[in-house]
Amino acid sequence: MPLPQPKPQVMSLPIYVPGKSVLQGASRIIKLSSNEAALGPSPKAVAAYDEIARSLERYPEGDAADLREAIGKANGVDPERIICGAGSDELILLTCRAFAGPGDEVVYPRYGFLMYEISTKSVGATPVPAPVRDLTADVDALLAAVTDKTRIVFLANPNNPTGTYIPASEVNRLRANLRDDILLALDDAYAEYVEAPDYETGMKLASTTENTITLRTFSKIYGLAALRLGWGFGPAAIIGALQRLRSPFNVSRPAQAAGIAALADQAHVKRQREHNTRMMKVVLQRLRGIGLNVQDSHGNFVLPEFPAGAVPDADAFLQSKGILARRVDGYGLPNHLRITLGTDEEMQITLDALAEFMSKRRA
Ligand SMILES: *Cc1c(COP(=O)(O)O)cnc(C)c1O
Repeated sequence: MPLPQPKPQVMSLPIYVPGKSVLQGASRIIKLSSNEAALGPSPKAVAAYDEIARSLERYPEGDAADLREAIGKANGVDPERIICGAGSDELILLTCRAFAGPGDEVVYPRYGFLMYEISTKSVGATPVPAPVRDLTADVDALLAAVTDKTRIVFLANPNNPTGTYIPASEVNRLRANLRDDILLALDDAYAEYVEAPDYETGMKLASTTENTITLRTFSKIYGLAALRLGWGFGPAAIIGALQRLRSPFNVSRPAQAAGIAALADQAHVKRQREHNTRMMKVVLQRLRGIGLNVQDSHGNFVLPEFPAGAVPDADAFLQSKGILARRVDGYGLPNHLRITLGTDEEMQITLDALAEFMSKRRA
């Protein structure tokens, strides 16, 4: 008798390999592998989370009404047009489930966030990565990749793992030249970190068009990655479709409570952003100083390029000092390492280690 067989598209799915979080034998670990917040979450969010521990028998509010209300207020938008998810990862998947299937195509820039490819394949649709320029999304290339079968275009802005962004004028040009029946999903996971004056979040296009949504997360600047909390905003018809697909209690009560408290503590967000902006200058300058090629980044991480073939040694050297960076071979970038910006002390140690590695290589 044959045994149960998963659908063919399941077994061919690439597996998302998260950043390493453990190192055997290291007394202290500096974890710079998952773009987590350097300063951690707001203490107010932690207190709200603790409070929920007293009533774990209670189900969450199924539609996360209070959290949506708080997000709506913070962003000046209608809470009815917001959906919350177990991380924005879940919302990426729901978007694919709602709008794409076998025979359909989903376009995104090459080196785009890996969940676009995984979620697209999981619904039986075909991922179509478009060429990029200088590791940066190229609107003309995205438009050229569109066919009759295209249903969704994903754009992370800024992108992970490259750290590059495109200005509002380019995002608007993309939307204006996409067919109306193509959903544009703007993934703004790092929006709060961006300082570039020509950058805009996806909120405006998601407010003013009938075919654009924007996705946000509490995992990055809000420092709540452990709780799995993200949200999406867009036209009522599109958000309504995603609402039908989500499971009834997809966002836990601790996550909802911590999210509301974190939103209320914008002073903490500001500290996080200011730390990142200051650290970014220091890190880029030092990396370039030790001979590594690295582009400006607009997230909370950098992506230095190492001499060809040097990444495995560099990674091992960092690990020998308890430092975890992120290999990006899975993205097709075997000569780069993604390094999250940590605290001052963590970055001092990491930059010194990289300088030592590079000078040893030259010797
Ligand atoms: C981290 C990240 C996300 C998702 O994070 P969640 O923890 O699932 O909310 C989405 N998009 C990009 C580009 C990211 O880097």
